[in-house]
Amino acid sequence: MTPQEALKKYFGYDGFRPMQEDVVRSVLSGRDSLVLMPTGGGKSICYQVPALVMPGTAVVISPLISLMKDQVDGLRAAGVPAAALNSTLTPSESERLRRECRSGAVKLLYLSPETLLGELTYLLQEIDISLFAVDEAHCVSQWGHDFRPEYTRLGVLRKAFPSVPMMALTATADKLTRRDILEQLCLREPQTFIASFDRPNLSLDVRRGLRGKEKLQVLTDFILARPGQSGIVYCLSRKTSEKVAGELRLKGFEAAAYHAGLPTAERDRVQSAFIRDNIQIVVATVAFGMGIDKSNVRWVVHYNLPKSIESFYQEIGRAGRDGLPADTLLFYNYADIIQLTSFARESGQRDINMERLQRMREYAEAGVCRRRILLNYFGEETDRNCGNCDVCRNPPRRFDGTILAQKALSAIMRTGQHATFQTVIDILHGTLSPAVRDNGYHRLKTFGAGRDITLRDWQDYLLQIVQLGLLEIAYDEACHLKLTPMGEAVLYGRSSIQLAVIVREEKKPKERRSKRAPQSEATLLPAAAGDEATTAALFEHLRELRRKLADGRGVPPYVIMSDKTLRLIAAARPRNVETFGTISGIGEYKKQQFGHTFVDAIAAWLHDH
Ligand code: ADP
Ligand code: ZN
Repeated sequence: MTPQEALKKYFGYDGFRPMQEDVVRSVLSGRDSLVLMPTGGGKSICYQVPALVMPGTAVVISPLISLMKDQVDGLRAAGVPAAALNSTLTPSESERLRRECRSGAVKLLYLSPETLLGELTYLLQEIDISLFAVDEAHCVSQWGHDFRPEYTRLGVLRKAFPSVPMMALTATADKLTRRDILEQLCLREPQTFIASFDRPNLSLDVRRGLRGKEKLQVLTDFILARPGQSGIVYCLSRKTSEKVAGELRLKGFEAAAYHAGLPTAERDRVQSAFIRDNIQIVVATVAFGMGIDKSNVRWVVHYNLPKSIESFYQEIGRAGRDGLPADTLLFYNYADIIQLTSFARESGQRDINMERLQRMREYAEAGVCRRRILLNYFGEETDRNCGNCDVCRNPPRRFDGTILAQKALSAIMRTGQHATFQTVIDILHGTLSPAVRDNGYHRLKTFGAGRDITLRDWQDYLLQIVQLGLLEIAYDEACHLKLTPMGEAVLYGRSSIQLAVIVREEKKPKERRSKRAPQSEATLLPAAAGDEATTAALFEHLRELRRKLADGRGVPPYVIMSDKTLRLIAAARPRNVETFGTISGIGEYKKQQFGHTFVDAIAAWLHDH
């Protein structure tokens, strides 16, 4: 069987993506390789297809049992003999699997690094190994976010099995991590493949300056506009994740919190309910993610600013793995800066972490295409605006903000530069808060000088003024605001500044709906044959059918078939099993397994509608 034939037969795809083909060829020629592709880029195919066409068993090293399970479920659903050897097996299951491996019946065997090292002189000596694939290879690096000490011992494989090609795969591309992978795994003259990290199907959006209640309102509207679509809300703290999950439940959403402080059983329950489409929303800390291979996450919201662009990109990357449009939204306010700065300053790597945070802030504050900033950050130059971020869709208008800034700067001067961000806003707006009264700030000339501007607008403007470098936050002096030389120049009229016009959420929904409208699952459909509404309704019907099939087999729905494939089916409405089998994502096995069920369900549904 050729690689192309295997791709069609097992996965139902007509062709490789550009880099996949090169990787497959390289492995088949016996070379070592390092494969860097973004999440959703199609890394798995790079080792699964060679595993299918080469004699013997491919050994895949994976850091988490949940990841192995997902991969194995997906492969079995495609008719591929795959298995995972891990601690969840009973002794007799384990024995049976070993026997199958020795007989050569297993094409892909998944193991954790610990299990693998334990089997080095046992099982691994008894089977014919076609290739080693080290998945999530960034786990070898201390620089990365998921460091796993056992990964650093995998270098022994290269010596123990000198003639077996070895692949390392990851979605983390930074140079330090890359170097660590090559060194630690002792790859031999490896060929390195780096795909573009662009994920054009992810929309990018930033909302600046909103606080508690307002954020919650915007979040609620955002979710309401995406009925039934799976999404993740990332929060900075455990407390916030529980609070937000609670608020969303009060509003009638199926939402659950997930963080490292919860009992393991509860975490497992939430994760498995989410991947099975039984919970729509997970509100989580960064603890949630690596084990999530769910391909139909349709949106990711950051309720707080993440600490670096790497984390941010990794987290939004969990949306839209199936390649269909997915939306991301980042909230960003002053409180986040204060909190993240104090984390960074207290961390062991203060300078690096402050720098990372700075880059993240620049992203959130940007007045240019956000995707260009991300791609530049990852070392990819691009001269095109993406058209799928808030800046591209709604370029910020600016106005001469000199007088407005002077009011703020003057107020700060008059406090002797001893006031915090919030107190300055209270002074400007004329709010008699305790901090204002206790310090007698209500007697200042500038008290109420900005009464005509709402509190929330002041939040935004003052944040812009800080970002423009007119003010410095004295972190070691109770976060008081201090004028920089640039701030003094503006205060004394030596220079002027431009501020961005604030665009408020309230005006947007109508505009957005009419312009973009990828809001419900239904409207995400490709230009369909026939009536769009019918296709959308049929998609929902088939989604229910998929869920039943998945529940019956004890696997997540996306393992049966991806949203993308399901959409193609709803649009094409195949009348017989042969046509069903031509749809992208339906291989031989799925055609046999599900063809009749789907064709019958479609015919019955069309008859009734
Ligand atoms: P990664 O592991 O890089 O995150 P996956 O291997 O999960 O990505 O692939 C992402 C999605 O793209 C999956 O739904 C997969 O089936 C699909 N895919 C991969 N290769 C192809 C291809 N050649 N043609 C069509 N779809 C593909
Ligand atoms: Zn853009």
